[in-house]
Amino acid sequence: MEREHLIKPVLDHSYPTVQYGKGVFLYDEQGKAYLDASSGAVTAGIGHGVQEIIDAMMEQAGKVSFVYRSQFTSEPAEKLAKKLSDMAPGGDYWAFFVNSGSEATETAMKIAIQHWQEKGRFGKNMVISRRMSYHGITMGALSMSGHVLRRRRFIPLLEDYPVVAPPYCYRCPLQMTAPSCKLACADDLETAIKRIGAEHIAAFIAEPIVGAAGGAIVPPEGYYKKIKEILYRYEILFIADEVMTGIARTGTMFGMQHDGVEPDLMALGKGLSAGYTPMAATLVKDNVMAPILQGSKSIMAGHTYSANPQSAAVSLAVLGYVERHQLAEAAQSMGAYLLTKLREMAEGIEIIGDVRGKGLLLAIEFVRNRDDKAMFPPGEGITVRIIDKAFHKGLLVYPASGAVDGAGDAIIVAPPLVITEAEVDQLVQLLEEAIREVADELT
Ligand code: PLP
Repeated sequence: MEREHLIKPVLDHSYPTVQYGKGVFLYDEQGKAYLDASSGAVTAGIGHGVQEIIDAMMEQAGKVSFVYRSQFTSEPAEKLAKKLSDMAPGGDYWAFFVNSGSEATETAMKIAIQHWQEKGRFGKNMVISRRMSYHGITMGALSMSGHVLRRRRFIPLLEDYPVVAPPYCYRCPLQMTAPSCKLACADDLETAIKRIGAEHIAAFIAEPIVGAAGGAIVPPEGYYKKIKEILYRYEILFIADEVMTGIARTGTMFGMQHDGVEPDLMALGKGLSAGYTPMAATLVKDNVMAPILQGSKSIMAGHTYSANPQSAAVSLAVLGYVERHQLAEAAQSMGAYLLTKLREMAEGIEIIGDVRGKGLLLAIEFVRNRDDKAMFPPGEGITVRIIDKAFHKGLLVYPASGAVDGAGDAIIVAPPLVITEAEVDQLVQLLEEAIREVADELT
């Protein structure tokens, strides 16, 4: 066999070579079809092979693909920044463009710290977060991430920022039940602030709905209103990590709109370009920018490819597509249909403990015992086995396991927002077969 050169996620695993994608399907070199029920890594929001996006990319490539942002601005980047501000809750945001979700959260962290420095508050340089969270793989983003499996190897290099209890009602970390808990998990933020001292904290970062670190965990009603009120009281900025939830995925353009909360900063990625180019953004409210505009007048962040005109042109075209095809509404209605179907399926399968989520960001958590919610031992590899079975049947789903102190089994089901009812039926049928086969192997 010819030796390999490309480092793939699992080095002894064989991956098919993709040939092309169309709608919710990807096709390999043998012509086998895969229903993309995870939109890749919850990214391909508008589906694959959309001609108008390809046209926008070609048109911009014909003008100029790259300029360095310290030398030129570009029309697509200017337009995209304005468009995002117009779309965002409450408006009045500035945009800083980067290339990945990790860079977007890390840039948000830096801007939050710089905001306080420009005000002379030099001690405020921690960005705290929740214990079940994922904000990215670069060192700053990983410092903010409460994802045991992804942190483990680098712990000596990381700051220990995930200090707040997650709003995980299925396995409440505070052993309480909503609504009688009166949102004790939000109060835990205040406890952490008092312990650390607000004078040390620049910002709190959270995903509106927890993604990879647990699987579509939706906080209880009123949670974010309470969080925002606590943060306001202690003069701490709120960063919403909308990398997974943003751009219509959960049934509103931004996940935080479900709660009517306007974050001080937002991180966007994934759905922003729907996977057509690497593109991500940090959105910053006017009042957070104000001291920087009056002070040093420059954000100390950025990458060679920041505000890349070609990526900006693609993202503009994607946002236009999302709006014209009303994909937020589609995520709402098709998400409700898929959730109902998955819950019906779950009734007959004992290893399904919970089916949850919002819009088309849904997840299934697996348990050894439904009554006491006992987890499978990590060695059973339940999540990987289900994903592999599904893959062989031509169905792609995304893992969200290992978040509960490195244990736990869950998958994310998050197809492109353009999925039809018939395709949802096909998805559920293939997924049910895959889960049942693994469940049968266990008995
Ligand atoms: N934030 C959230 C909520 C994510 O889900 C992810 C990726 O899964 C990231 C940040 C990191 O994004 P990227 O993988 O593009 O660096």
